[in-house]
Amino acid sequence: MSRDAIIARTIIGLEIHVQLKTQSKMFCGCPVRFEAPPNSCVCPVCLGHPGALPVMNARAFDYAVLAGMALNCTIARHTKWDRKSYYYPDLPKNYQISQYDLPLAEHGFFDLERNGDVTRIRIKRAHLEEDAGKNLHDVPGCTLLDLNRAGTPLLEIVTEPDLTSADQAFAFCTELQRLMTYLGVSEGSMQKGQMRFEPNVNVAIEVDGKELRTPISEIKNLNSFRAVRLAIAYEAKRQVAAWGDDPDYLQGERQSENRGWNDEKGVTEFQRDKEAAHDYRYFPDPDLVPVEVSDAMLAAIRANLPELPAPRRRRFVNQYRLSATDADTIVSHRATADLFEEVIAAGGPPDIVSKQLVNVWLKHANDRSLPVTELGVDAHRMAQLASITAKGKINKTAANRIAKAMLTSSAPPAELAKDLGLVQVHDADATAVWVEEAFAANEQAVQDALANPRKAKAAAGFLRGQVMKSSAGKADPNLVGKLIDQRLQQLRPDT
Ligand code: ZN
Ligand code: MN
Repeated sequence: MSRDAIIARTIIGLEIHVQLKTQSKMFCGCPVRFEAPPNSCVCPVCLGHPGALPVMNARAFDYAVLAGMALNCTIARHTKWDRKSYYYPDLPKNYQISQYDLPLAEHGFFDLERNGDVTRIRIKRAHLEEDAGKNLHDVPGCTLLDLNRAGTPLLEIVTEPDLTSADQAFAFCTELQRLMTYLGVSEGSMQKGQMRFEPNVNVAIEVDGKELRTPISEIKNLNSFRAVRLAIAYEAKRQVAAWGDDPDYLQGERQSENRGWNDEKGVTEFQRDKEAAHDYRYFPDPDLVPVEVSDAMLAAIRANLPELPAPRRRRFVNQYRLSATDADTIVSHRATADLFEEVIAAGGPPDIVSKQLVNVWLKHANDRSLPVTELGVDAHRMAQLASITAKGKINKTAANRIAKAMLTSSAPPAELAKDLGLVQVHDADATAVWVEEAFAANEQAVQDALANPRKAKAAAGFLRGQVMKSSAGKADPNLVGKLIDQRLQQLRPDT
């Protein structure tokens, strides 16, 4: 390694393929289905039979424009389709219909918020294209083909090389998935391969005051956020090491290469030198008419643009005084954020609603692998639970038990509180009796609370827990705390 060399930074650009949530394929009427019997969703168009003519899926185009708008892109008023030629068995036409020099969206940006900082990631372009089928290697000695996926609409989003770390790329991919599902243009399911990531990675190295760069590697077809982070981190290290081993590494013209991620070994592996655009022999598809985008069309699509996750998060913090963490959790799914606002519209106080949504309802939903909107408890009843909690009719622990009962009963939460004997007791005399019982039964804790500075806090907490227990969860925790403090004051020998 040269003496005055500094590893300046990692340079990362991303290409992301997003499967759009359409009923049918990009250029034919075949259904888009994930788990259909092999080759059951095919027709002459997506099988590439001679003479079959493609017709553009207008819904896919609208979705792509909506995504382009959300990414602050300029939407092309005139766009067209191109053939990208390559021969692979999973692409029976021997070309992919894509967009080359006139993509439908370009020159956008996405403001990535992380730990209070905002980094603007420029979006170079976004275009529509069709997916290929799948090669299956399950049977030894042969390759099987399933062409159900061939022709599925894909939105390809390309960023400028503005990302500078594996963690940042991870965060960007996560936010992009959130954006796409918010817009409703994609299910964004990793399990179903609906988002695939291809990072372009190289490293800037300063040698004797001059900046040199390692050749770019494109890591192909990553299908999880985790793989994006690991592969980029590995690749940056590998390039620095390759340069350390070979002083000529940074000299002269070196070709970019395609690499694959080996998840088992945790390494990237050389696949082939990267193709240049001319290798694909792009040319306009004569079977498809160019698309003219009118003002009316843009206005109609823009009307579908919802409030996006980042501004919504900020609004929740400002308007409802949510913590950043709770706002992040609630906004992470559009349906959850919508539900939150419905519960508030139904009269739930925001502070209690947010806590119960995050700590109670979302937990039950996760336990059942259901969206929170399908728990069988509507916004109105969630608001009732939050209201009786806010009014002190029940305490927080009781609210958890009532929430659980609400999953199987349609009775109003106030009624369930009565049935379960969980109506909070605010009566000081009754509470004092429970406190006395707890003190009598737990002498050691009382001693610690009085005389052991290291254990005093925990001991008082323990006593509070005992009172809540003997009251069967009905005591008012604030009152209990107050009475316990008073009782300890009285018992202190020096007062
Ligand atoms: Zn078809
Ligand atoms: Mn592509």
